[in-house]
Amino acid sequence: MLALFENPRLRGGIHAEEHKAETSGVPIALDMPLPKKLYIPVQQHVGKPAEPLVKVGEKVLKGQLLAYSQGTISAPVHAPSSGEIADVMDFPAPHPSALPIRTIIIETDGLDQWQPLKAPDDPFALPAEEICALVGAAGVVGLGGAVFPSAVKLDLGRKNKIHTLLINAGECEPYLTCDDRLMQERAGEIVTGIRLMLRGMNAPEATVGIEDNKPEAFIAMREACAEFANINVVQVPTRYPMGWDRQMLRYLTGREIPADGRATDIGVVIHNVATAHAVYRAVCLNQPLITRVVTVSGSAVAKPQNVEVLIGTLMSEVLDFCAADKSRVARLIMGGPMMGDALPISEVPVVKACNGILALSEQDIEIPEVKPCIRCSTCVTACPVGLLPLEMASRIRANQLDAAVDLGLKDCINCGSCSYVCPSNIPLVHYFKFASGELYKRQQMDHKSEQTKRLIDDRNQRMERIRLEQEAEARRVMEARAARAKEQELAKQKAQQAQQAQQSISEADNKAAVEEVR
Ligand code: SF4
Ligand code: SF4
Repeated sequence: MLALFENPRLRGGIHAEEHKAETSGVPIALDMPLPKKLYIPVQQHVGKPAEPLVKVGEKVLKGQLLAYSQGTISAPVHAPSSGEIADVMDFPAPHPSALPIRTIIIETDGLDQWQPLKAPDDPFALPAEEICALVGAAGVVGLGGAVFPSAVKLDLGRKNKIHTLLINAGECEPYLTCDDRLMQERAGEIVTGIRLMLRGMNAPEATVGIEDNKPEAFIAMREACAEFANINVVQVPTRYPMGWDRQMLRYLTGREIPADGRATDIGVVIHNVATAHAVYRAVCLNQPLITRVVTVSGSAVAKPQNVEVLIGTLMSEVLDFCAADKSRVARLIMGGPMMGDALPISEVPVVKACNGILALSEQDIEIPEVKPCIRCSTCVTACPVGLLPLEMASRIRANQLDAAVDLGLKDCINCGSCSYVCPSNIPLVHYFKFASGELYKRQQMDHKSEQTKRLIDDRNQRMERIRLEQEAEARRVMEARAARAKEQELAKQKAQQAQQAQQSISEADNKAAVEEVR
């Protein structure tokens, strides 16, 4: 079960129970009924939320822009179907907190009518910048879960002169098979997307890494790439978390991304395979990202399968479509069981990041008894980052967060490999998630007190400036007064002197007149 060091390019990792067979052989369902209402959050990506430009009561067509991106790192959102804007309001997000976020609600009209689309005659004749602009305008984001705006990444790739585009088709999380099915069914379109990405970055070649538990997908992609010598399709060992970008990159190139660095620092850009498919649709068909393939599975689901779902569809409706027995659902997860988010309710929308909806029953999540640590180091061997999970956990238990940070807490990707292999069933990753949350809270508090301090400093500086200005003004007034008084005194003196002079002249004149009379 545990990964040992048979390949120096592989660090840690586990062979988790796959649960993929339930869905990997079933075609993607395209016949999910059109929901009566669609709930489209304006924040479905890393960066600033999009700004709504539609009003309640406005009619919209499928594909129409609903909210535009703000700033450099952002992405627009579009209408997944035609209808009328019913509301722009706060609605529960597909997040463990289910806290509300700004959401545009469309009441669909059943026509599913597209807005006019202007597909280019020859997408490969477009300049690189235009390809990136089309990808950005279509709201394409990383569909492996990172949801980083893809156009920004393509621009970054072009500016950094990268030599390799790495397409991550690892899909290592148990249960998830949406990328697998996409490759089996739409390999040609994915390869077109990859070629467009290469063109958008002016990059020479691409490598597609596919875990070796997806042989049909590998064959389909190999065949689709056969005529393109600059695209290699490579099988990588099935070992969780191979889908983690850094693990895939390390395995395929033997190189490490520098700490605090990016893949572009070593001439590589990494995109998920489903993102390549979204790029194909954005550029060749001029279609924005309004659907995604979602794996719906778990033992509470009677018809586990992959479904192409309109963004904004409530998860409860997707579960109904797949005949889930909601009374048996003990845990609902968006994403995979290792790194996905447990959701408290199913009345939340499918978003761009949602690659899986897992309805797990009690039997799936049975928690065995936790026993004391036997210091076997199995967790250390399993960690793909090279951390010391047992040491970190003991620091967190002792409330020594800083010591846990010194041991690399911030580098932990919360993959759960350590918990999975621990013979004492210690929920190590729970400690790390908890501690990361505490660190986040601490950062927020530090940020707040810094802001408060800055405000106080600003106020003090402002008061000091006002005091100095008032003092200067008082000085100026006093000096002006003194100058005026001096001027007045001088004028008075001059007037007196003039009067005295006049008097002297008059006296002299009188004297002369008297002399004349005599
Ligand atoms: S795997 Fe579990 S028991 Fe073994 S050292 Fe790590 S925490 Fe302790
Ligand atoms: S959860 Fe963190 S510590 Fe545990 S194996 Fe994954 S990266 Fe390592």
